[in-house]
Amino acid sequence: MSNLFHAGFTAGQPPVRVRFGPGARHDLAQDLDALGIRRPLILTTPEQAGLGAALADQLTDQLAGHVAGHFAKAQMHTPVEVTDQAMTQITETKADGILAIGGGSTIGLGKAIAYRTGLPQIVLPTTYAGSEATSVLGQTEKGVKTTLRAASVQPKAILYDPELVATLPVAMTVTSGLNAMAHAVEALYAPDATPLSSALAMDGLRAFVTGLPAVVQNPGDLTARQDTLFGAWLCGTVLNQVGMALHHKLCHTLGGGLNLPHAETHAIILPHATAYNDTGQLQPLADLMGGETAGQALFDFAHALGAPQALQDLGVLETDLDRMADLGSQTPYPNPREITRDGIRQLLQDAFEGRPPTNNRPNE
Ligand code: NAD
Repeated sequence: MSNLFHAGFTAGQPPVRVRFGPGARHDLAQDLDALGIRRPLILTTPEQAGLGAALADQLTDQLAGHVAGHFAKAQMHTPVEVTDQAMTQITETKADGILAIGGGSTIGLGKAIAYRTGLPQIVLPTTYAGSEATSVLGQTEKGVKTTLRAASVQPKAILYDPELVATLPVAMTVTSGLNAMAHAVEALYAPDATPLSSALAMDGLRAFVTGLPAVVQNPGDLTARQDTLFGAWLCGTVLNQVGMALHHKLCHTLGGGLNLPHAETHAIILPHATAYNDTGQLQPLADLMGGETAGQALFDFAHALGAPQALQDLGVLETDLDRMADLGSQTPYPNPREITRDGIRQLLQDAFEGRPPTNNRPNE
Protein backbone atom coordinates (compact mmCIF):
# COMPACT_ATOMS: atom_id res chain seq x y z
CA MET A 1 0.00 0.00 0.00
CA SER A 2 1.47 3.38 -1.00
CA ASN A 3 1.32 6.72 0.82
CA LEU A 4 -0.91 9.25 -0.89
CA PHE A 5 -0.79 12.98 -0.32
CA HIS A 6 -1.93 16.11 -2.10
CA ALA A 7 0.98 18.43 -2.71
CA GLY A 8 0.75 22.03 -3.80
CA PHE A 9 4.05 23.87 -3.81
CA THR A 10 3.63 26.09 -6.84
CA ALA A 11 1.62 29.30 -6.62
CA GLY A 12 -1.43 29.33 -8.86
CA GLN A 13 -1.46 25.59 -9.47
CA PRO A 14 -3.81 23.07 -7.86
CA PRO A 15 -2.37 20.34 -5.63
CA VAL A 16 -1.12 17.18 -7.32
CA ARG A 17 -1.88 13.65 -6.11
CA VAL A 18 1.47 12.13 -5.19
CA ARG A 19 2.09 8.54 -4.09
CA PHE A 20 5.25 6.94 -2.78
CA GLY A 21 5.90 3.30 -2.03
CA PRO A 22 7.06 -0.01 -3.47
CA GLY A 23 4.20 -1.31 -5.61
CA ALA A 24 2.51 2.14 -5.75
CA ARG A 25 1.52 1.30 -9.34
CA HIS A 26 -0.99 -1.22 -7.99
CA ASP A 27 -3.00 1.69 -6.51
CA LEU A 28 -3.33 3.33 -9.91
CA ALA A 29 -7.03 2.52 -10.32
CA GLN A 30 -7.81 4.85 -7.39
CA ASP A 31 -6.01 7.74 -9.08
CA LEU A 32 -7.68 7.10 -12.42
CA ASP A 33 -11.00 7.08 -10.61
CA ALA A 34 -10.25 10.27 -8.68
CA LEU A 35 -9.39 12.06 -11.93
CA GLY A 36 -12.38 10.63 -13.77
CA ILE A 37 -10.23 8.78 -16.32
CA ARG A 38 -12.02 5.73 -17.77
CA ARG A 39 -9.97 5.04 -20.90
CA PRO A 40 -6.29 5.99 -20.47
CA LEU A 41 -3.81 5.79 -23.33
CA ILE A 42 -0.57 4.28 -22.00
CA LEU A 43 2.66 5.89 -23.21
CA THR A 44 6.17 4.40 -23.12
CA THR A 45 9.40 4.44 -25.10
CA PRO A 46 9.98 1.44 -27.42
CA GLU A 47 12.55 0.13 -24.90
CA GLN A 48 9.98 0.19 -22.10
CA ALA A 49 7.14 -1.22 -24.19
CA GLY A 50 7.10 -4.42 -22.12
CA LEU A 51 6.52 -2.46 -18.93
CA GLY A 52 3.64 -0.58 -20.55
CA ALA A 53 2.18 -3.80 -21.92
CA ALA A 54 2.37 -5.43 -18.49
CA LEU A 55 0.64 -2.48 -16.88
CA ALA A 56 -1.91 -2.33 -19.69
CA ASP A 57 -2.79 -5.98 -19.00
CA GLN A 58 -3.05 -5.32 -15.30
CA LEU A 59 -5.19 -2.23 -15.85
CA THR A 60 -7.37 -3.94 -18.40
CA ASP A 61 -8.25 -6.40 -15.64
CA GLN A 62 -8.67 -3.68 -13.00
CA LEU A 63 -10.70 -1.37 -15.24
CA ALA A 64 -12.82 -4.10 -16.80
CA GLY A 65 -11.15 -3.77 -20.20
CA HIS A 66 -11.23 -0.01 -20.47
CA VAL A 67 -7.62 0.81 -21.38
CA ALA A 68 -7.76 2.79 -24.64
CA GLY A 69 -4.44 1.51 -25.93
CA HIS A 70 -0.67 1.69 -25.72
CA PHE A 71 1.55 4.03 -27.74
CA ALA A 72 5.18 2.89 -27.38
CA LYS A 73 7.07 5.40 -29.53
CA ALA A 74 8.03 8.21 -27.15
CA GLN A 75 11.36 9.81 -28.09
CA MET A 76 13.90 12.18 -26.54
CA HIS A 77 13.13 15.93 -26.99
CA THR A 78 9.45 15.28 -27.94
CA PRO A 79 9.50 15.52 -31.76
CA VAL A 80 6.17 16.89 -33.01
CA GLU A 81 5.88 14.14 -35.65
CA VAL A 82 5.72 11.56 -32.86
CA THR A 83 3.18 13.66 -30.96
CA ASP A 84 1.06 13.85 -34.14
CA GLN A 85 1.05 10.03 -34.37
CA ALA A 86 0.04 9.73 -30.72
CA MET A 87 -2.70 12.32 -31.25
CA THR A 88 -4.17 10.15 -34.01
CA GLN A 89 -4.32 7.24 -31.60
CA ILE A 90 -5.92 9.46 -28.93
CA THR A 91 -8.66 10.43 -31.37
CA GLU A 92 -9.21 6.95 -32.79
CA THR A 93 -9.39 5.26 -29.40
CA LYS A 94 -11.38 8.06 -27.70
CA ALA A 95 -8.87 8.06 -24.83
CA ASP A 96 -9.92 10.35 -21.99
CA GLY A 97 -6.61 10.50 -20.13
CA ILE A 98 -2.89 9.81 -20.37
CA LEU A 99 -0.81 7.36 -18.42
CA ALA A 100 2.92 7.98 -18.98
CA ILE A 101 5.33 5.30 -17.73
CA GLY A 102 8.94 6.33 -18.19
CA GLY A 103 11.47 9.13 -17.99
CA GLY A 104 11.47 12.67 -19.31
CA SER A 105 10.93 11.57 -22.92
CA THR A 106 7.71 9.66 -22.21
CA ILE A 107 6.47 12.31 -19.79
CA GLY A 108 7.25 14.97 -22.43
CA LEU A 109 5.00 13.18 -24.92
CA GLY A 110 2.21 13.03 -22.34
CA LYS A 111 2.60 16.77 -21.73
CA ALA A 112 2.53 17.50 -25.47
CA ILE A 113 -0.77 15.60 -25.77
CA ALA A 114 -2.18 17.33 -22.69
CA TYR A 115 -1.20 20.70 -24.16
CA ARG A 116 -3.16 19.93 -27.33
CA THR A 117 -6.19 18.27 -25.71
CA GLY A 118 -6.41 19.31 -22.05
CA LEU A 119 -6.56 15.62 -21.09
CA PRO A 120 -5.46 14.79 -17.52
CA GLN A 121 -2.16 12.93 -17.08
CA ILE A 122 -0.97 10.39 -14.55
CA VAL A 123 2.76 9.71 -14.50
CA LEU A 124 4.82 6.78 -13.23
CA PRO A 125 8.40 8.09 -13.39
CA THR A 126 11.17 5.58 -14.07
CA THR A 127 14.13 8.01 -14.03
CA TYR A 128 15.10 10.94 -11.83
CA ALA A 129 14.78 13.69 -14.50
CA GLY A 130 11.86 15.34 -12.64
CA SER A 131 9.73 16.43 -15.61
CA GLU A 132 6.63 15.02 -13.86
CA ALA A 133 6.82 17.85 -11.31
CA THR A 134 6.91 20.73 -13.79
CA SER A 135 4.55 22.64 -16.06
CA VAL A 136 7.30 22.98 -18.66
CA LEU A 137 7.11 21.29 -22.06
CA GLY A 138 10.04 21.09 -24.49
CA GLN A 139 9.25 20.11 -28.08
CA THR A 140 11.33 19.71 -31.23
CA GLU A 141 10.18 20.67 -34.70
CA LYS A 142 12.51 20.48 -37.73
CA GLY A 143 15.47 20.13 -35.38
CA VAL A 144 14.62 23.24 -33.33
CA LYS A 145 13.72 22.76 -29.68
CA THR A 146 11.41 25.25 -28.01
CA THR A 147 10.02 25.25 -24.50
CA LEU A 148 6.78 26.59 -23.10
CA ARG A 149 5.12 26.74 -19.72
CA ALA A 150 1.42 26.01 -19.28
CA ALA A 151 -0.71 24.83 -16.37
CA SER A 152 -2.36 22.26 -18.67
CA VAL A 153 0.87 20.27 -19.07
CA GLN A 154 1.38 19.69 -15.33
CA PRO A 155 0.53 16.05 -14.52
CA LYS A 156 -2.35 15.69 -12.05
CA ALA A 157 -1.05 12.55 -10.33
CA ILE A 158 2.44 11.11 -9.84
CA LEU A 159 3.09 7.58 -8.60
CA TYR A 160 6.65 7.12 -7.39
CA ASP A 161 7.15 3.36 -7.33
CA PRO A 162 10.76 2.41 -6.50
CA GLU A 163 10.24 -0.98 -8.13
CA LEU A 164 9.91 0.78 -11.49
CA VAL A 165 13.13 2.76 -11.18
CA ALA A 166 15.06 -0.26 -9.87
CA THR A 167 15.47 -1.48 -13.46
CA LEU A 168 17.35 1.67 -14.47
CA PRO A 169 20.92 0.54 -15.26
CA VAL A 170 23.57 1.83 -12.84
CA ALA A 171 25.24 4.15 -15.36
CA MET A 172 21.90 5.79 -16.20
CA THR A 173 20.98 5.90 -12.52
CA VAL A 174 24.10 7.97 -11.84
CA THR A 175 23.70 10.41 -14.73
CA SER A 176 19.98 10.78 -14.15
CA GLY A 177 20.60 11.44 -10.44
CA LEU A 178 23.18 14.12 -11.27
CA ASN A 179 20.70 15.62 -13.76
CA ALA A 180 18.19 15.93 -10.91
CA MET A 181 20.80 17.41 -8.57
CA ALA A 182 21.56 20.08 -11.18
CA HIS A 183 18.02 21.46 -10.81
CA ALA A 184 18.54 21.88 -7.08
CA VAL A 185 22.05 23.36 -7.34
CA GLU A 186 20.81 26.06 -9.71
CA ALA A 187 17.76 26.64 -7.49
CA LEU A 188 20.11 27.54 -4.63
CA TYR A 189 21.41 30.62 -6.46
CA ALA A 190 18.33 31.49 -8.55
CA PRO A 191 17.45 35.21 -8.38
CA ASP A 192 13.84 34.27 -7.62
CA ALA A 193 14.75 31.68 -4.95
CA THR A 194 12.60 31.69 -1.81
CA PRO A 195 13.28 30.14 1.60
CA LEU A 196 10.88 27.34 0.57
CA SER A 197 12.61 26.59 -2.74
CA SER A 198 16.05 26.65 -1.07
CA ALA A 199 14.89 24.27 1.68
CA LEU A 200 13.39 21.90 -0.89
CA ALA A 201 16.58 22.09 -2.97
CA MET A 202 18.83 21.23 -0.03
CA ASP A 203 16.59 18.32 0.96
CA GLY A 204 16.60 17.08 -2.63
CA LEU A 205 20.38 17.27 -2.77
CA ARG A 206 20.68 15.49 0.59
CA ALA A 207 18.49 12.65 -0.68
CA PHE A 208 20.89 12.06 -3.59
CA VAL A 209 24.11 12.62 -1.66
CA THR A 210 23.14 9.76 0.66
CA GLY A 211 20.86 7.74 -1.62
CA LEU A 212 22.81 7.61 -4.87
CA PRO A 213 25.91 5.83 -3.48
CA ALA A 214 23.60 3.31 -1.79
CA VAL A 215 21.74 2.65 -5.04
CA VAL A 216 24.98 2.24 -6.98
CA GLN A 217 26.16 -0.29 -4.42
CA ASN A 218 22.89 -2.19 -4.53
CA PRO A 219 20.61 -1.18 -7.44
CA GLY A 220 17.78 -3.30 -6.03
CA ASP A 221 17.76 -1.49 -2.66
CA LEU A 222 14.18 -0.23 -2.72
CA THR A 223 14.60 2.00 0.33
CA ALA A 224 17.50 3.83 -1.31
CA ARG A 225 15.60 3.90 -4.61
CA GLN A 226 12.65 5.47 -2.82
CA ASP A 227 14.93 8.04 -1.14
CA THR A 228 16.36 9.02 -4.52
CA LEU A 229 12.87 9.24 -6.05
CA PHE A 230 11.93 11.55 -3.21
CA GLY A 231 14.99 13.61 -4.16
CA ALA A 232 13.89 13.61 -7.80
CA TRP A 233 10.48 14.94 -6.81
CA LEU A 234 11.99 17.76 -4.71
CA CYS A 235 14.52 18.65 -7.41
CA GLY A 236 11.79 18.63 -10.09
CA THR A 237 9.60 20.76 -7.84
CA VAL A 238 12.24 23.48 -7.49
CA LEU A 239 12.88 23.32 -11.24
CA ASN A 240 9.23 24.33 -11.56
CA GLN A 241 9.48 27.11 -8.97
CA VAL A 242 12.56 29.13 -9.91
CA GLY A 243 14.62 30.08 -12.95
CA MET A 244 17.61 28.02 -14.07
CA ALA A 245 20.89 29.61 -15.17
CA LEU A 246 24.31 28.81 -16.67
CA HIS A 247 24.26 25.05 -16.13
CA HIS A 248 20.92 24.46 -17.84
CA LYS A 249 21.58 26.99 -20.63
CA LEU A 250 24.94 25.43 -21.40
CA CYS A 251 23.54 21.87 -21.40
CA HIS A 252 20.78 23.07 -23.73
CA THR A 253 23.37 24.67 -26.04
CA LEU A 254 25.58 21.56 -26.06
CA GLY A 255 22.67 19.13 -26.35
CA GLY A 256 21.04 21.01 -29.21
CA GLY A 257 24.23 22.08 -30.98
CA LEU A 258 26.08 18.78 -30.82
CA ASN A 259 23.21 16.33 -30.34
CA LEU A 260 24.52 15.09 -26.99
CA PRO A 261 22.64 12.79 -24.61
CA HIS A 262 20.66 14.73 -21.99
CA ALA A 263 21.56 13.18 -18.64
CA GLU A 264 25.25 12.52 -19.47
CA THR A 265 25.75 16.13 -20.56
CA HIS A 266 24.24 17.36 -17.29
CA ALA A 267 26.46 14.98 -15.32
CA ILE A 268 29.63 16.29 -16.98
CA ILE A 269 28.83 20.01 -16.87
CA LEU A 270 27.40 20.18 -13.32
CA PRO A 271 30.67 20.45 -11.30
CA HIS A 272 32.06 23.04 -13.72
CA ALA A 273 28.96 25.25 -13.88
CA THR A 274 28.68 25.00 -10.10
CA ALA A 275 32.29 26.09 -9.61
CA TYR A 276 31.87 28.93 -12.09
CA ASN A 277 28.81 30.26 -10.28
CA ASP A 278 29.98 29.74 -6.71
CA THR A 279 30.42 33.15 -5.15
CA GLY A 280 30.34 31.73 -1.64
CA GLN A 281 26.60 31.05 -1.53
CA LEU A 282 27.11 27.32 -2.12
CA GLN A 283 29.05 26.65 1.08
CA PRO A 284 26.07 24.76 2.63
CA LEU A 285 26.24 22.36 -0.31
CA ALA A 286 30.01 21.95 0.05
CA ASP A 287 29.46 21.23 3.77
CA LEU A 288 26.68 18.74 3.01
CA MET A 289 28.99 16.90 0.62
CA GLY A 290 32.02 17.11 2.89
CA GLY A 291 34.11 19.08 0.38
CA GLU A 292 35.95 22.37 0.35
CA THR A 293 33.97 23.84 -2.52
CA ALA A 294 30.67 22.70 -4.01
CA GLY A 295 32.13 22.34 -7.52
CA GLN A 296 35.03 20.16 -6.42
CA ALA A 297 32.75 18.13 -4.12
CA LEU A 298 30.37 17.44 -7.02
CA PHE A 299 33.29 16.49 -9.26
CA ASP A 300 34.58 14.01 -6.65
CA PHE A 301 31.08 12.66 -5.99
CA ALA A 302 30.47 12.05 -9.70
CA HIS A 303 33.91 10.46 -10.07
CA ALA A 304 33.32 8.09 -7.14
CA LEU A 305 30.04 6.97 -8.73
CA GLY A 306 31.71 6.29 -12.08
CA ALA A 307 29.91 9.07 -13.96
CA PRO A 308 31.19 10.20 -17.36
CA GLN A 309 33.35 13.29 -16.79
CA ALA A 310 34.76 14.28 -20.16
CA LEU A 311 32.87 15.79 -23.08
CA GLN A 312 35.41 14.16 -25.40
CA ASP A 313 34.05 10.78 -24.29
CA LEU A 314 30.63 11.79 -25.66
CA GLY A 315 32.23 12.40 -29.07
CA VAL A 316 32.72 16.18 -28.71
CA LEU A 317 35.70 17.48 -30.68
CA GLU A 318 38.05 20.12 -29.28
CA THR A 319 37.33 22.14 -32.42
CA ASP A 320 33.65 22.33 -31.34
CA LEU A 321 34.49 24.24 -28.16
CA ASP A 322 34.99 27.73 -29.63
CA ARG A 323 31.60 27.63 -31.33
CA MET A 324 29.92 26.31 -28.19
CA ALA A 325 31.59 29.04 -26.10
CA ASP A 326 30.29 31.65 -28.57
CA LEU A 327 26.77 30.25 -28.45
CA GLY A 328 26.86 29.75 -24.68
CA SER A 329 27.85 33.36 -23.97
CA GLN A 330 25.80 35.15 -26.62
CA THR A 331 22.36 35.74 -25.13
CA PRO A 332 22.33 37.39 -21.69
CA TYR A 333 20.26 35.81 -18.89
CA PRO A 334 20.20 36.12 -15.10
CA ASN A 335 23.19 34.33 -13.58
CA PRO A 336 25.00 34.84 -10.27
CA ARG A 337 28.30 35.50 -12.03
CA GLU A 338 28.85 37.45 -15.23
CA ILE A 339 28.96 35.20 -18.26
CA THR A 340 32.13 35.93 -20.20
CA ARG A 341 33.17 34.23 -23.40
CA ASP A 342 36.63 33.44 -21.96
CA GLY A 343 35.14 32.08 -18.76
CA ILE A 344 32.81 29.75 -20.66
CA ARG A 345 35.61 28.66 -23.00
CA GLN A 346 37.77 27.72 -19.98
CA LEU A 347 34.84 25.88 -18.37
CA LEU A 348 34.29 23.90 -21.58
CA GLN A 349 37.99 23.04 -21.84
CA ASP A 350 37.91 21.58 -18.32
CA ALA A 351 34.72 19.66 -19.10
CA PHE A 352 36.13 18.49 -22.42
CA GLU A 353 39.22 17.03 -20.77
CA GLY A 354 37.37 15.74 -17.72
CA ARG A 355 39.66 17.49 -15.27
CA PRO A 356 38.51 19.13 -12.01
CA PRO A 357 36.98 22.60 -12.33
CA THR A 358 39.46 25.47 -12.31
CA ASN A 359 36.93 28.26 -12.33
CA ASN A 360 36.02 28.31 -8.68
CA ARG A 361 37.71 31.60 -7.88
CA PRO A 362 35.07 33.91 -9.35
CA ASN A 363 36.61 37.21 -8.36
CA GLU A 364 40.08 36.62 -9.79
P1 NAD B 1 14.55 9.23 -21.18
O1 NAD B 1 13.16 9.37 -20.74
O2 NAD B 1 14.87 9.62 -22.59
O3 NAD B 1 15.05 7.75 -20.94
C1 NAD B 1 16.34 7.37 -21.39
C2 NAD B 1 16.32 5.88 -21.76
O4 NAD B 1 16.17 5.12 -20.59
C3 NAD B 1 15.17 5.48 -22.68
O5 NAD B 1 15.67 4.58 -23.64
C4 NAD B 1 14.20 4.78 -21.75
O6 NAD B 1 13.46 3.78 -22.41
C5 NAD B 1 15.15 4.17 -20.73
N1 NAD B 1 14.58 4.00 -19.39
C6 NAD B 1 13.89 4.91 -18.68
N2 NAD B 1 13.60 4.41 -17.46
C7 NAD B 1 14.11 3.16 -17.40
C8 NAD B 1 14.13 2.15 -16.39
N3 NAD B 1 13.59 2.34 -15.18
N4 NAD B 1 14.74 0.99 -16.69
C9 NAD B 1 15.33 0.80 -17.89
N5 NAD B 1 15.35 1.72 -18.88
C10 NAD B 1 14.74 2.89 -18.63
O7 NAD B 1 15.57 10.04 -20.24
P2 NAD B 1 15.38 11.19 -19.16
O8 NAD B 1 16.74 11.64 -18.83
O9 NAD B 1 14.48 10.74 -18.08
O10 NAD B 1 14.60 12.33 -19.95
C11 NAD B 1 15.25 13.19 -20.84
C12 NAD B 1 14.23 14.08 -21.54
O11 NAD B 1 13.40 14.71 -20.58
C13 NAD B 1 14.87 15.20 -22.34
O12 NAD B 1 14.18 15.36 -23.55
C14 NAD B 1 14.70 16.43 -21.44
O13 NAD B 1 14.70 17.62 -22.17
C15 NAD B 1 13.37 16.12 -20.79
N6 NAD B 1 13.17 16.78 -19.48
C16 NAD B 1 12.15 17.68 -19.38
C17 NAD B 1 11.90 18.33 -18.18
C18 NAD B 1 10.75 19.29 -18.08
O14 NAD B 1 10.48 19.82 -17.00
N7 NAD B 1 10.03 19.54 -19.14
C19 NAD B 1 12.69 18.05 -17.05
C20 NAD B 1 13.73 17.12 -17.18
C21 NAD B 1 13.95 16.48 -18.40
